[in-house]
Amino acid sequence: MKEPLITDIQKYCIHDGHGIRTTVFFKGCPLSCGWCHNPETQSFSRQLLFDEDKCRGCGACIPACQSNAITLSKNKAVTNQQLCTVCGTCQEECLGNLRIPSGNYYTVEELQKELEKDLVFYTTSGGGVTLSGGEVLLQDTEYLEQLLSYLATKKISVNIDTCGHAPREVLQRLFPYVDTFLYDVKLMDPVLHKKFTGVDNRLLLDNLIWLNKQHARLWIRIPVIVGVNSTLAQMEQIAFFLKSNEIHPEQINLLPYHNTGRNKYNRLSRTYHDSDFETPTNDELERFFLLFQEYGFANVKIGG
Ligand code: SF4
Ligand code: SF4
Repeated sequence: MKEPLITDIQKYCIHDGHGIRTTVFFKGCPLSCGWCHNPETQSFSRQLLFDEDKCRGCGACIPACQSNAITLSKNKAVTNQQLCTVCGTCQEECLGNLRIPSGNYYTVEELQKELEKDLVFYTTSGGGVTLSGGEVLLQDTEYLEQLLSYLATKKISVNIDTCGHAPREVLQRLFPYVDTFLYDVKLMDPVLHKKFTGVDNRLLLDNLIWLNKQHARLWIRIPVIVGVNSTLAQMEQIAFFLKSNEIHPEQINLLPYHNTGRNKYNRLSRTYHDSDFETPTNDELERFFLLFQEYGFANVKIGG
C-alpha cells in the first residue's frame, strides 16, 4: 500500500460540504489548470517552496544542505532543483522560515487519528471530512478504501472533491463510502478543455454520468474564468449537458476566478500567467446564475 503525500489538513472548513469539515489536500493531479490556486498539489512529488522575495541572502541555509544544492546569487539563495532532495534540513536554518517542504507522507493510521480529533465538531454540526487535492482518486486505492471504511465505522461523513479524471474502477470501489461528490466541471469543448487543463473531458464527463446513474449526491462546481469559460454560450453548454443527462445536483456552485494562489507559483519557481485569466463581473455571474435557474436548477450559488 503506497502512502500518499498530503500538503495540508485544514480544520473548520465550511465550504466543502455541509457542516464543519476537515479538508485533506492530497498531492498529485492529472490536470494542470493554469489558474489552480493550489499549484503545490499538482505534482505527485515533494517540492520545496521558497519565498525568494523575502530572502535576505544571509547564507545560513547553505552549509545545512548536504546535497550542495544552495548557492547565493545577487544576494538571494538559489536552489539547484536537480540536486535538492527536499530533505527539509535548510528549513531549520532559515530564520525567516522561507524554505518549506510541501508534502508529507501519512500512514493510514496517522491520517485516521488526525481526522478523528474533530469528531465532536462533525457530529454537532452535521459535517465531516472532505478529501481534496490535487486529485484524491489517483492516490493509492487500497489506502483510500482502508481510510474510508474506517471513517464509515466511526460514522464520519466523507465528501470527495474531484476533477473526475480517474479510472472508473476506482470510483466503483470508493462510491459506497462517499456522502457527496464535489465534482468540477470546467468546459464542454474537449479541445478547449485539453488546452486549458492538459486533458480532454471525455473521461470525467463519462464518470459524472455514471455517478449520476448510481444516484450519487453531487455538487457541481464550475470555476468561472474570463478567458477560459465565461461566455453565455459556454455556460449554456454546461447547463444543457446536465439537463440532457438528467443530472440533478444538490447544488451548483459558480466559483468566480481569483488569483489568491499567485504567490505560490513564485515559491515553486513557476510563472503565473496572470494576464490570461480575469475575474467575471457581478453582472456576468448574475446572468449565469439566472441561466442555470432557467434550465431548472433551483439551488445555484455564486461562490463556495
Ligand atoms: S531541502 Fe534539503 S536538499 Fe533541498 S536545498 Fe534544502 S537542505 Fe538542500
Ligand atoms: S537562510 Fe533564508 S534568508 Fe538566509 S539565504 Fe537562506 S533562504 Fe535566504
